[in-house]
Amino acid sequence: MNDRVQLKTAPSKITVTDDVWVLHFPRFGEEGTHFHTYGMLTPYFKGLTEGRLMATLCANRGCPISKGRGEKWLPPRADCPDCHQPMVWQEVVNPIGTIYTYTYVERGGTGLEIECPYYQIDVKMEGVGTIVKSYLLDRKPIRIGDKVRARFRTGKEATHTCLDLCFELA
Ligand SMILES: [Zn+2]
Repeated sequence: MNDRVQLKTAPSKITVTDDVWVLHFPRFGEEGTHFHTYGMLTPYFKGLTEGRLMATLCANRGCPISKGRGEKWLPPRADCPDCHQPMVWQEVVNPIGTIYTYTYVERGGTGLEIECPYYQIDVKMEGVGTIVKSYLLDRKPIRIGDKVRARFRTGKEATHTCLDLCFELA
């Protein structure tokens, strides 16, 4: 077994229509391709393949919760769930955080594209109001509170899915 978690997947094809990414996921061969649009969340997935973590935040001063000083949301939301106004894109420039909680996955369900065993982790990042769910590349024992750094699958390694974001111990 490798020290680092590997994926059991192949990059999915992407087509672009009006700046929106459409994922081609051949679940059952070429004829059984599932098409999934990323719609207004395209900047998030595009950012991952460029090694950038893009989040959204509410800049509406009239928002009952954020008052326009909102923390970042990850995964991003196109519209604010509190005031329903469009959110603003902003990069998480220093994508480090701490493990908020974790699960050690020894046996994955059907279709899981992450090689077991691995740690599924929830990460608390500075300036991000939500807890980010992801997976850890390292397999050595971990503890709640351990520091982690975001890693990205870019270029030819990119799957063009949420698997392009993962973490490693910092
Ligand atoms: Zn809002």
